[in-house]
Amino acid sequence: YQLQLGENLYNIGYVFTGLMESVGASRKVFEYMHRKPRIAYDGVHKPDLVQGRIAFEDVSFCYPTRPTATVLDRVSFEVNPGETVALVGPSGAGKSSVIALLEHFYESKNGRITLDDMEIENFDHKLFHQRVALVAQEPVLYDGTVRYNILYGCEEWADDDEMIRAAKLANIHDFIMETDKGYDTECGEKGVQMSGGQKQRIAIARALVRKPAVLILDEATSALDAESEHIIQEALAKCSVGRTVIVIAHRLSTVEKADRIVVINKGHVLQQGNHKALMQDPNGLYYSLVQRQLLQSQSSDKLADQGESH
Ligand code: ATP
Repeated sequence: YQLQLGENLYNIGYVFTGLMESVGASRKVFEYMHRKPRIAYDGVHKPDLVQGRIAFEDVSFCYPTRPTATVLDRVSFEVNPGETVALVGPSGAGKSSVIALLEHFYESKNGRITLDDMEIENFDHKLFHQRVALVAQEPVLYDGTVRYNILYGCEEWADDDEMIRAAKLANIHDFIMETDKGYDTECGEKGVQMSGGQKQRIAIARALVRKPAVLILDEATSALDAESEHIIQEALAKCSVGRTVIVIAHRLSTVEKADRIVVINKGHVLQQGNHKALMQDPNGLYYSLVQRQLLQSQSSDKLADQGESH
């Protein structure tokens, strides 16, 4: 616990991070490009326009390896086109599983998951993943240039202008321009060293090049300094204009700005509403999550003050 507080000393605005039993140990949201869906589906629906309305209707789920353990139990929520919705809950609540189902890595046991009122399995696979883009918490960058990493899979139809536009929206353009070779800078293991936040912003740019109607983001739990926090928040604000955003949120700054927060615990949706509305209920899980986190950040601040005075 001490160690965790120490690590979080400079972490401004984080919220549910401290509640995770083992931060980073259970990152299961994967980028589409790194994983093949387990479920082969080859729907034919290929609309020209995707509005980005998402709905879960009574969705229940258990992992094939643990068929008796219910992970999601009749989960229902809706996300309207253009809305930003934050999924919040303690570790193991089922947030990543919701996203895994939406990305169709697994099939639900019961219920319906729809995009623009059409069940997701009816969509053309490639089109679906262009329109519903996922940014993992710890994205992997490929060996290759920044350009290669951002345009990956879209080289045929996206040009440098679109790449730069996406990088600007993701707040990573300035960083790229400060490197020796700009967009020709090498990434990956042998390339330029990047922080988790920078990698995630490259991955956001990669997603935005596809012009997704829905952006799914698994927010980094790692400690960020105030500046990185601000840069990411600003990127999120810019990216959310005109598109649906679903974020697994770990920071108070993110959930406060969300149009709606879906509070999940033990596979159930317990509460839904915006920050202000949910804080009206002192008996609700959301209220206690925020209170616990505020207490934790106060003790972090105290430790930081003590550190400075020595
Ligand atoms: P965290 O914030 O720690 O990432 P979470 O809210 O995203 O947690 P999930 O990862 O969705 O929660 O996990 C929900 C439940 O499903 C947990 O009990 C977890 O142990 C279980 N689970 C997750 N992934 C798998 C898997 N691949 N196989 C079997 N069980 C799994």
